Amino acid sequence: MSVYAHPARRRRVNVRTPEVMERVQAEVAEHYRSSIVEKVRAKGGLLSIGDTTIRLAKQFGFCYGVERAIDLAYASRRVFPENRIFLIGEIIHNPEVNRQLEAMEIVSLPWQEMNEQYDDLGEDDVVIVPAFGAPVSFMDKVESRGCQIVDTTCGDVMKVWKRVRGFAKDGVTSIIHGKADHEETRATASRAAGEDGKGHYLIVLTLEDTDFVCDYIVNGGDPAAFRERFGGVGGMSEGFDPDVHLHRVGVANQTTMLKSETEEIQRRVRAALLRRDGDDSNFSVFDTICGATQERQDALFDLLEEPLDVLLVVGGYNSSNTTHLVEIGEKELPTFFIRSSECLVSLAEIVHYDIHRKEEVDADPGPLGREGAVLVGITAGASCPNNLIEDTILKVFELRGVSADEVRSA
Ligand code: SF4
Repeated sequence: MSVYAHPARRRRVNVRTPEVMERVQAEVAEHYRSSIVEKVRAKGGLLSIGDTTIRLAKQFGFCYGVERAIDLAYASRRVFPENRIFLIGEIIHNPEVNRQLEAMEIVSLPWQEMNEQYDDLGEDDVVIVPAFGAPVSFMDKVESRGCQIVDTTCGDVMKVWKRVRGFAKDGVTSIIHGKADHEETRATASRAAGEDGKGHYLIVLTLEDTDFVCDYIVNGGDPAAFRERFGGVGGMSEGFDPDVHLHRVGVANQTTMLKSETEEIQRRVRAALLRRDGDDSNFSVFDTICGATQERQDALFDLLEEPLDVLLVVGGYNSSNTTHLVEIGEKELPTFFIRSSECLVSLAEIVHYDIHRKEEVDADPGPLGREGAVLVGITAGASCPNNLIEDTILKVFELRGVSADEVRSA
């Protein structure tokens, strides 16, 4: 049984002392703040020089959960200058931030499976749990090694855990809208097993997955085919039997999904239960999209109401909330998902991540490269620091013949 049920045993450390936080916040600001972004925001998000205009979304970049996680990681190094410090996976999905932590000798441990590095941990070691949280088995392991744990799990993620634990307690199977190979969803799924490990979960990513499940709910089907579809990469709980465990279901979601898609999944599952049972008494739902994700999606919808020629979305390619911003943008206009300003190679070439091919590709930047007036929309996911947005703004202007000094003094 999981020892996670006994949090009092965990060696948690509080690294947020006032003196440490004062130093840390200065350091974090130095690494990630941007005076240009602040200036453009103060001007209502619009900056126009010559025939180039950029328009920033009203909300983008670091969310409260990410800021807290980064502060705590930096503080860990200040509080434990001599200790080995480890991190389960990545603190957030941004290569720039992860590089900074590596420079502080904070060592990333594998998050998909535990290896011998976990057996080597000891009481003097500090282990940071990322903003996504970590599966129960990982928490049990670092706890059993007696490590000092700095837990940066976002409060919004913990709210989802509370919900799926509640489902498990009531004998309700959690249908989790999320990516089965995403850290947060793995951590949530492990809680959906409940305190006694007897709860069940199923992870659906797409509307096609949902329709497959709904068809099974209404008409039944081949359990082997069901297991084949969802069994890979931990898409369902051990011992999941679709003939038994789709009786009472509750829908939850990874905090960073596309809200409209999550709502559609909820609607379809509820409709399937209504058709099977004649009522929805076996259906529970809890919208667990976090406020920050929602604000960034809403701000992008607002931005898209303005005339724009092209949209740049800045962020780590494995960032879920950033990917959804790209999905929203590309329905409306030429949209490029870039990890940094380096991707803006020239007016004839942009390197960006194609979310359908799941690879970085070279492309023609389209309207960005044309002569005459251009209006560029810019947004970024919750894990993207403002300094990367600043670099992007400067690079757009530089490619279009406007120097950094001109941008700074505009
Ligand atoms: S994206 Fe949402 S859930 Fe994730 S760290 Fe930020 S606030 Fe928390």
